[in-house]
Amino acid sequence: MASNKKLLILAGDGIGPEGIAQARRVLEWMSKRRAVSFGVSEDLVGGAAFEAHGTPLTDKTMDAAMQADAVLFGAVGGPKWDNVARHLRPEAALLRLRKDMDLFANLRPAKVFPALAGASTLKEDIVSGLDIMIVRELTSGVYFGKPRGIEKLPDGRRRGVDTQVYTSDEIERVARVSFELARKRQGKVCSSEKSNVMESGVLWRQVVTETHKHYPDVALSHMLADACGMQLVRNPKQFDVIVTDNLFGDLLSDVASMLTGSIGMLPSASLGPADPTGRRRALYEPVHGSAPDIAGKGLANPIASILSLAMMLRYSFDMGDDADLVEAAVGKVLDGGLRTADIMQPGKAKVSTSVMGDAILKELDKLAA
Ligand code: NAD
Repeated sequence: MASNKKLLILAGDGIGPEGIAQARRVLEWMSKRRAVSFGVSEDLVGGAAFEAHGTPLTDKTMDAAMQADAVLFGAVGGPKWDNVARHLRPEAALLRLRKDMDLFANLRPAKVFPALAGASTLKEDIVSGLDIMIVRELTSGVYFGKPRGIEKLPDGRRRGVDTQVYTSDEIERVARVSFELARKRQGKVCSSEKSNVMESGVLWRQVVTETHKHYPDVALSHMLADACGMQLVRNPKQFDVIVTDNLFGDLLSDVASMLTGSIGMLPSASLGPADPTGRRRALYEPVHGSAPDIAGKGLANPIASILSLAMMLRYSFDMGDDADLVEAAVGKVLDGGLRTADIMQPGKAKVSTSVMGDAILKELDKLAA
């Protein structure tokens, strides 16, 4: 049977392939038990591709990513390639994928599993039950605006310049993604910028407010980005979806992620524009990097990769029930007391990457029985 779900797996370097191997087992479980078929292909990326082909991302792999319905990405990088020219470094692969696929909306959920509420640095009652989604604009703003650079002034001082720039269409498309997401969640969007001191912030607020007219069923609020950072650690449960620009999203999503405990638990999705059929290019990846310090030791937490797969089921393949099932299986395993080293707590059982994978598959079997 030809599959209408074309998936490209790019596992990458370090613990990338270790987490993705466990996500693949979940995918195989889905194919067997849920009567869905995925057309899966796999390729090298990052340092692994550099070793094989002299480039971190070949044109052939880039083409395959453009043709795929979804890309599942592990992690890239490592000390071995630290001194390679910038454009050939493993991380350049991810930048090209984001750029060529036009992945403008970066979705970073921060969800606290009940069993891990005590692992946050914040008090348990502040984070327990937390489920928020940060939507960060990923392809514009101050990281890309021109002019940029460091120049020498006639008097010998140096001047560093970055430019924060947004056009209305760039704001509108990420706002639309946020409103659409909110409709499937608690129906609330908080838009965050610095309209008190930045012109791009004034435009951001105007365009989000105009776009909201198409989504009257969603509640919209606005919050300055500094206040938003403060509220994220004071009372994070007030938020559902937060939409913000590239710079503030970078900061706020990292703050939000730490509410949940470990980086080994955090998935992400990056979405491109919808074509006339509603299909979007999309890349799903754990938030963590290649973790060279623990690579090859069976210590990596595979849950970030497995939850990235769940996001793929939800957002690329409209398989929300199956995504719920995967998330529930992860929750059950944590309730049962199994922990990889990064989320270890007193009195719990420390397990390896693959044993964590085994346990999640067993829970899937039980939940689907
Ligand atoms: P990192 O996320 O790889 O690791 C940070 C710390 O968290 C390490 O102590 C690591 O052991 C731990 N950790 C990360 N993921 C874990 C997991 N799943 N389970 C258990 N512990 C985990 O970040 P870093 O150390 O700053 O970067 C290492 C390499 O990864 C660098 O080459 C960097 O450029 C690259 N990197 C890649 C990506 C990506 O591919 N998207 C993202 C960030 C960093």
